[in-house]
Amino acid sequence: MRTENATPQSWGHYPTVKPAQVTPIFWRNELPDLTNVKQPLLPFAYGRSYGDSCLNEGGITLDMSHLRRFIAFDEQAGVLRCEAGVSLADVLELVVPRGWFLPVSPGTKFVSIGGAIANDIHGKNHHKAGTFGRYVISFELLRSNGERLQCSATENEALFRATIGGLGLTGVILWAEFRLKPIVNPYIVMDSIRFESLDEFFDISAESDHDYEYTMSWVDILIGGAALCRGKFMRGNHNQEAALATKPVKKQFPLAIPINLPTFVLNSLTVKAFNEVYYHVQREKRVHKIVPYDPFFYPLDSIHEWYRLYGKRGFLQYQFVVPFTTGHDAMHDILGRIRKSGEGSFLTVLKKFGDISSPGMLSFPRPGLTLALDFSYHGKKTLALLNDLDTIVRQSGGVVYPAKDARMTPESFQAYYPQWHEFEQYIDPHFSSSFWRRVTPSEVALLPVNG
Ligand SMILES: Cc1cc2nc3c(=O)[nH]c(=O)nc-3n(C[C@H](O)[C@H](O)[C@H](O)COP(=O)(O)OP(=O)(O)OC[C@H]3O[C@@H](n4cnc5c(N)ncnc54)[C@H](O)[C@@H]3O)c2cc1C
Repeated sequence: MRTENATPQSWGHYPTVKPAQVTPIFWRNELPDLTNVKQPLLPFAYGRSYGDSCLNEGGITLDMSHLRRFIAFDEQAGVLRCEAGVSLADVLELVVPRGWFLPVSPGTKFVSIGGAIANDIHGKNHHKAGTFGRYVISFELLRSNGERLQCSATENEALFRATIGGLGLTGVILWAEFRLKPIVNPYIVMDSIRFESLDEFFDISAESDHDYEYTMSWVDILIGGAALCRGKFMRGNHNQEAALATKPVKKQFPLAIPINLPTFVLNSLTVKAFNEVYYHVQREKRVHKIVPYDPFFYPLDSIHEWYRLYGKRGFLQYQFVVPFTTGHDAMHDILGRIRKSGEGSFLTVLKKFGDISSPGMLSFPRPGLTLALDFSYHGKKTLALLNDLDTIVRQSGGVVYPAKDARMTPESFQAYYPQWHEFEQYIDPHFSSSFWRRVTPSEVALLPVNG
């Protein structure tokens, strides 16, 4: 097997672990022989997961980023088939000028199709569209015994559902076919509305969910008091004017953060100061504008390697969803606990998930209130805070997102995802990840398949 030297890292740069080997996959007709491997295998694409679900300490990382070709595009039906290492950015470049868009998109376009399926990703339109997995028609899965299985809702159906949201553990997705969404032009009509409390967030959400395809909010959680938080509610729809279809979209030139900033730069005081400025920079209660899709969907992509803001020790993201029935109380307890800790979350995003069910066995999204937070890694203090948040999320009937986790305990994972037992039977016996070994007692077979 051919190998590479670079050590794969996830976006949070915590934890840092070394695989025994990195094996690139270049061609679908020239696949590495996985039948005699001695270490656990795991696919890795662009490392846009935050924690260790894409990492494989001591194992063999299969680098999918070279498997990046389009295979077929039915421009009438809006169905695309491509290799699993094709990024969402590649897809957008191909399909937007032809009047199509991604059915679901996360907060960055530098995610592979394989990664989008393996984490059954969600986007700003979850309340209208559900998860990415709902749009996957079929894919081909390479198993460690050399089998190549076509999977769809009618063929190898259980493996299809296990692979969607299956954290890369069921085998290697070589290519996938999925449905796109028609658009008239590349622009979004959007509103940004300031809100002063969690209750006001709920009010604006209630009035927006029906008419707006995309909703999400930036929130300042450090204000304290009965309001609980304040923020900006963004909502938008695809613009419908045919005349804009030919209006050129200005290209974004990303800024770069050339070095890791010192850890002390982001603390609760600087985060408070940033929040104050960001909240007040929009003077009007509501701003209405037409913008290209890029800054609406991917504002963070305009800063290259922004994880460097958090310094050399990296950061942890924490995303949970709690049911609407317990959402208000959970938010009260969680935000209170964060304020008490003195830790500040620099980027905090709040959204309501809808009730469109996910096809994946282990998928994270479900109806409720979801909050994503970023914390600089300050060792035990940060870990203790997140353990306490886990207790509140569990007691509230919620779950935490594995794609963004680097530290949850086996007890928490197994309580959040009791279906992991059912899922386990579809894991390829030679596949595993640092995450999976941390949260389950399962042993990975380390002996050669044919040995
Ligand atoms: C700025 C930012 C914003 C984000 N916003 C969102 C969001 O809004 N919603 C959301 O859901 N997520 C979000 N994410 C998380 C991101 O979408 C997911 O973690 C995604 O899965 C990363 O894809 P990747 O291609 O980088 O894969 P990696 O991170 O390299 O791997 C992710 C998983 O996919 C598996 N995998 C990769 N390729 C294959 C393959 N070919 N076959 C089988 N398994 C494979 C890996 O084993 C691993 O388990 C965000 C991340 C960032 C950095």
